[in-house]
Amino acid sequence: MHLKSILNHVHPLKSFVYKRARLVKAAGRPAKIEVEIEPRANGRPICSGCGEKRPGYDRLTVRRFQFVPLWGIPVFLVYAMRRVKCPPCGVTVEQVPWATGKCRLTTSFRWFLAGWAKRLWWQATADAFQTTWEDVFRSVKHAVEWGLAHRDLAGIEAIGVDEVQWRNGHTYLTLVYQIDTVKRLLWVAEERTEKSLRGFFESLAGDVKAGIQFVASDMWRPYLNVIAEQIPSALHVLDQGIVRPMALLQPCR
Ligand SMILES: [Zn+2]
Repeated sequence: MHLKSILNHVHPLKSFVYKRARLVKAAGRPAKIEVEIEPRANGRPICSGCGEKRPGYDRLTVRRFQFVPLWGIPVFLVYAMRRVKCPPCGVTVEQVPWATGKCRLTTSFRWFLAGWAKRLWWQATADAFQTTWEDVFRSVKHAVEWGLAHRDLAGIEAIGVDEVQWRNGHTYLTLVYQIDTVKRLLWVAEERTEKSLRGFFESLAGDVKAGIQFVASDMWRPYLNVIAEQIPSALHVLDQGIVRPMALLQPCR
């Protein structure tokens, strides 16, 4: 079975076709697999601004989108994006089904990384799949945001707010966990400012927010301010020890 056939089976693309697949070696060893993609003949590109089919305008230089590895070898989909001429939007880059926006990772690979990041530390995930800590972080963030938009969040009673350091302590992340009968990561944001945490509360429906009865965090002033402002009637437990063991999606510290 050709690699193309396997890809058509596991990752079919409606308006595009897989073309040549090649193994790129470095120092005599397999370094990566590159699979070229081309649009189907007569398939018109979709404007990324409005989602409508529009006439093509020109093509950009080739881009590589990292895909799920095969046999431990990194895989890249190689494609020259078309630009489209769209009357309402102007000249825009087309929308493709395997990635969003300017992301270098395919959506499949982001879900793959987010899945492994539940089982391994984020740095270990990055090392195992030959990507970076930042890419794992962004993949988890994408999965968490998708979860917030699609999951039923009713019934959250207790949350824990945690901060983690990375890049040798120069940068922080803010994480929010549900820590009642369900244990899960609800929010990931860069830095540990009031804005980092306020974004979480602003993403919740009013009744979900009103249902939070307990919150655990450390004494970090910006967190205390936002918790007092957003859920003033919740019981606030100032104990990081409650949150940390819940950190199922523990990034590398
Ligand atoms: Zn458009």
